[in-house]
Amino acid sequence: MAAQNKQVLLANRPTGWVKESDFRIVETPIGKPADGQVLVKAIYLSLDPYMRGRMNDTKSYAASAEIGGVMTGETVAEVIESKNAAFKAGDVVCAHTGWQQYALSDGKNLRKVDPKLVPLSTYLGVVGMPGVTAWIGLLDIGEPKPGETVVVAAASGAVGGVVGQLAKMKGARAVGVAGGKEKCDFVVKELGFDACVDHRSESFLKDLAAATPKGVDVYFENVGGKILDAMLARANPFARFPFCGMISDYNAVDRYGVKNLISVVGMRIKIQGFIVSDRLDRWPVALKELGEGVASGKIKYRETVTNGLENAPKAFIGLLKGENFGKQVVKL
Ligand code: NDP
Repeated sequence: MAAQNKQVLLANRPTGWVKESDFRIVETPIGKPADGQVLVKAIYLSLDPYMRGRMNDTKSYAASAEIGGVMTGETVAEVIESKNAAFKAGDVVCAHTGWQQYALSDGKNLRKVDPKLVPLSTYLGVVGMPGVTAWIGLLDIGEPKPGETVVVAAASGAVGGVVGQLAKMKGARAVGVAGGKEKCDFVVKELGFDACVDHRSESFLKDLAAATPKGVDVYFENVGGKILDAMLARANPFARFPFCGMISDYNAVDRYGVKNLISVVGMRIKIQGFIVSDRLDRWPVALKELGEGVASGKIKYRETVTNGLENAPKAFIGLLKGENFGKQVVKL
């Protein structure tokens, strides 16, 4: 039998926590490129929290994944065959081709990357969409000043790890919030944050106060829930809160009700939600700086690499529960 294309489809729209049975794995024939098309073979697939939102059928900034359709996602892929003058076989690209091994593309959703500059998987993390998210959210919206205190939750993760390192480069105090001692140790010892607080600890609020003795000037919001409430209570006057994500609510049927919103008025907090794709104009400069930072070793990162597309659903569910440690990718 000719080689087949393994694909992960959305089988059901989950209510609450995602289950492996919400996905279906199928094999289909690999397509042949028509004029203007390329055939790509994925090397790494990125798993990202936003994919949980795509499984819903609710009002959003992006279209939902279709039931029975290939799950949405970005890959680093190799061009296998090209009938598009802009690409040749062997080119390595970032591609929005979804949870599948092979895909045909007209080239519009492909971005060439340099396989010699940084490890390929980092084009899905620190030198890719999550890194740019950190860069835009912190620098354009958070605008940290030397001596200020910047806090970010999910601090060992793809976005959070970059936020803290950029904050340090701007002369700010970087404080992380992460789940567990191992992640907190990594955030301080490897990523160079000034402190990291374990949100699972019973002394979380006390530990946070100790780590932010001068209050909070920038809170980069990745998680929501009780962590957001704690940050609202510690905000300084004119604090900036870039709202990037709220992963603690993504699977919640009954969402957390924030209690300290009143601080927004008293502390004149500026809250700004953003989506990284709104600012495509900022991507080239962000990617250049992040790529140089990783290539020179100045910017550090960690990854969880899962082997095999068939294990992507389990890894994705783990990501939503905090089982990943650093950027979650799947090696195909
Ligand atoms: P991560 O690599 O940080 O992985 C997710 C992490 O979230 C987990 O490891 C876990 O870390 C933490 N987490 C999960 N559930 C909870 C919870 N209930 N309470 C506290 N922490 C929790 O993911 P990313 O860096 O890729 O994404 C971080 C955030 O950024 C997400 O909210 C995502 O949706 C958002 N995002 C937004 C974009 C935009 O354009 N606005 C673009 C990209 C990402 P721990 O164990 O440390 O708690």
